[in-house]
Amino acid sequence: MANGVKAIRGMNDILPDESYLWAHFEQTVQHWLAAYGYRNIRTPIVEQTDLFIRSIGEVTDIVEKEMYTFVDHLNNDSLTLRPEGTASCVRAVIEHNLLYSSPQRLYYAGPMFRHERPQKGRYRQFHQVGVEALGYAGPDIDAELIVMCARLWDLLGISGLRLEISTLGNAESRALHRSRLIKYFEQHRDVLDEDSLRRLHTNPLRILDSKNPVMQGIIGNAPKLMDDLDAESLSHFESLQHILREQGINFEINLRLVRGLDYYNRTVFEWVTDKLGAQGTVCAGGRYDGLIEQVGGKSAPACGFAMGIERLLALMQECGGKIPQPAPHIYIVHQGDLSLDYAWKCAETLRDQGFDVILHCGGGSFKSQMKKADASGARYAMIIGDDEFKAQEVTLKPLREPVEQASVKLDLVAELINNKEPHDQ
Ligand code: ATP
Ligand code: MG
Repeated sequence: MANGVKAIRGMNDILPDESYLWAHFEQTVQHWLAAYGYRNIRTPIVEQTDLFIRSIGEVTDIVEKEMYTFVDHLNNDSLTLRPEGTASCVRAVIEHNLLYSSPQRLYYAGPMFRHERPQKGRYRQFHQVGVEALGYAGPDIDAELIVMCARLWDLLGISGLRLEISTLGNAESRALHRSRLIKYFEQHRDVLDEDSLRRLHTNPLRILDSKNPVMQGIIGNAPKLMDDLDAESLSHFESLQHILREQGINFEINLRLVRGLDYYNRTVFEWVTDKLGAQGTVCAGGRYDGLIEQVGGKSAPACGFAMGIERLLALMQECGGKIPQPAPHIYIVHQGDLSLDYAWKCAETLRDQGFDVILHCGGGSFKSQMKKADASGARYAMIIGDDEFKAQEVTLKPLREPVEQASVKLDLVAELINNKEPHDQ
């Protein structure tokens, strides 16, 4: 396509040979969410830029360099393609007063946009399922969110995920920790790289997240958040661990877990795999008790997580899960003027009976039509020629097993197929 228009780098087409896996994933996820009482919320893909700056935080990777922000030239509004879903969800919950009478268990799914360097598992348009429990103080709901993830991995046939959890404490203990970190890193300014120097006074927690090998020594010796934690957050964290143990969920405490968004407090967690190379985090979340108020609502606690669909699909394949491509039950090949109306009638009648039917279009010899029937993956070819029309019968030829074809009346077809595959209809 030398002069043709191509898709935008990092934004992928999902073609039919792959989209059925997405459909399988989405159906599994929908049943799973219903089983826990979570209800779907759908928000626009574009929001006022300010929403994301206020919620995600000014000095984060997302806001500093990953957002697709543009001016709507018709009214000069600054708009942004959503880089994540929590902010939009919280905005909608406030706007429609959803927390007025009861807390809410909600979920959303769809594309997110971040201007990152495209590579395996990292795209500029990617897809998330996000689950948010708003109005719940936890730690029971924190545990529920984690336990339900574990169930989903089973449903999807995914194994070997590692759960890392931590706590960030409350606002005061974070402020205390922050000032201790700034003081500590001030004393080691000479070792800090450019990024870290820039963050020293704005977001020193992010320095802990640096992968720069030169800095690992001072990062290792930095003040520990655990030492600054408030008693309430500690007991919240301990209760969460207790429930997880009772539920048989293995976890590791990783006190270095720093999330890339500012709104988290107390519980944070990530599900990580070693099977996908560098992009190993498939699901991440935590508590965000201050966010609703920060975005303009009445203060309410909340907790949630988001998972990356592309990474989970890749992991399902790594784990060897085989999801068969859906195929029609019957492919109708037909020839002759007399048979055409009859073939249409057969196709619609079979669809009424619940069968998936492809009616061959475009003519061609029986032989070439049979090739198409085979390639369609259909289990049966139904052959309709003038002879069949005259006898008001159809010829059914099994394509996936060495069984002779048979001519039968149309109303016997359902019985014939269902008898062979009694559990399949
Ligand atoms: P990472 O550390 O990999 O950049 P993140 O902390 O930025 O992830 P979150 O904002 O927590 O990611 O989003 C939750 C999940 O969404 C991630 O765990 C990941 O599975 C997925 N995700 C995030 N960014 C991308 C991306 N650019 N492409 C594909 N999936 C992504
Ligand atoms: Mg990121």
